[in-house]
Amino acid sequence: MDYLPIFLNLRDRLALVVGGGAVAMRKVELLLKAHARVLVVAPLLHPELALYRDAGRIEHRAALFEPAHLQGVALAIAATDRPEVNRAVAAAGEARGIFVNVVDDAAASSCLMPAIVDRSPIIVAIGSAGQSPTLARRVRAQLEAMLPERLGELAGLAGRVRERVQRALPDINQRRAFWERLFSSPVASKVLAGSMSEAEALLEAQLRTASQAQAARGEVYLIGAGPGDPDLLTLRALQLLQQADVVLYDRLVSDAVLARVRRDAERIFVGKRSGEHRATQQRIHALLLQYAARGLRVARLKGGDPFIFGRGGEELDVLAAAGIPVVVVPGITAALGAAAAAALPLTHRGEARAVTFVTAMGEGAEALDWRSLAAAAQTVVFYMGVGQLARIVEHLHAHGAPLERAVAIVERATLPEQRVLAGTLRDIAERAHSAGIGAPSLLIVGDIAARAATSTGATSATGAAGTLDLPEAGGLLNWAAALEPRGR
Ligand code: SAH
Repeated sequence: MDYLPIFLNLRDRLALVVGGGAVAMRKVELLLKAHARVLVVAPLLHPELALYRDAGRIEHRAALFEPAHLQGVALAIAATDRPEVNRAVAAAGEARGIFVNVVDDAAASSCLMPAIVDRSPIIVAIGSAGQSPTLARRVRAQLEAMLPERLGELAGLAGRVRERVQRALPDINQRRAFWERLFSSPVASKVLAGSMSEAEALLEAQLRTASQAQAARGEVYLIGAGPGDPDLLTLRALQLLQQADVVLYDRLVSDAVLARVRRDAERIFVGKRSGEHRATQQRIHALLLQYAARGLRVARLKGGDPFIFGRGGEELDVLAAAGIPVVVVPGITAALGAAAAAALPLTHRGEARAVTFVTAMGEGAEALDWRSLAAAAQTVVFYMGVGQLARIVEHLHAHGAPLERAVAIVERATLPEQRVLAGTLRDIAERAHSAGIGAPSLLIVGDIAARAATSTGATSATGAAGTLDLPEAGGLLNWAAALEPRGR
């Protein structure tokens, strides 16, 4: 190692920043975050730095740097745009044994500022020994995505009960095992999901029994996997998929999403086949209970969002009745994925005052309020089996929707094979039939759907799809083919 990473306690200590520009300001803000007393030496101040001065948060000396400014300083940062001034600060620091960071000049610096991931009190500092700050920042971006936002709250909670744990478990090995267990227990998932009071209650229970050998406690993560593109998973979904021991997944969960699951997790397909829905749902409940009872962390991965036509509520009820902790992670529902992928603004101003998600599957379909679904000035998204298409069109028309109303079908939205089919109520069933549209598909009804054809042009304009001819079927676009060169 060329550098020793170290965390400085600068609270109430004096830090010197030489320079009064925008770069200096960023350093000043960092030092203030660390509760340092800050002295800025610069002939002129950036307007925002002047605000800090006026608010009494920094001290300002309107002067050129001289070595005497280092009096009583714990750390100095040279942030002027004049190399000779920066080097003079470095030399003066060297002579007095004070660490000096020269911004963007590792060679002149006796210490380097890292890229920081701040989940205080957990702090990650990343350095590249001045070789590549850009690479260090990329590493930071990756860690930012990986580390839950509330990691610091978890550390804080642990800090609050630290002494009690120490008293309850005098043996260090026992204590270590307790903490290990805690951080992979529902207490941690609850904190990270923002349910602090539930976490505290669970923690209290664990503390009461801390000295007894503990059976690990299982939990379930009800995770929305989004419409298919793995980049549309939420950060929390990714974090939980990385720690789950078992994953129960549906047919709608794409292979690309499954590839993001922890490698050694057990994967169980629990997809429903038509005709046996009831039995399958019972089996899913049984599996969830069974694995959680064994103390495992179970991820229940569902296409889209778990609570949009996903029967997530039933699973939640069953688990709650059994006292098993559940974390629900929302997902991007198919309608939103499809709308974004096909560039259809669902509530476009002046065209749609409301958007409705509806499923026209099953016996309930006849009982839908078709009159309101057929009304103008709104967007209706049908989650559906393609087989229902003719029936949906018939109902809408029978209840007042004109046959010219614009519609679009998005098949396998956000997946590489995504297809968009534009049409009207009059011709959509026929077009879907001749295009061989299959599952999973959404039907989007409303004026905004007219843009499905418009977006064809937009894509051509980008050049990527410029050479793609529209198939005879009329407006059927295979975006996957159009975008192939992007290496999906
Ligand atoms: N919970 C899911 C919906 C499950 S119901 C969600 O929030 O998206 C299943 C229906 O969702 C399918 O019949 C289809 O209409 C729709 N669907 C799911 N994924 C889709 C996709 N990638 N493209 C188009 N439709 C999809």
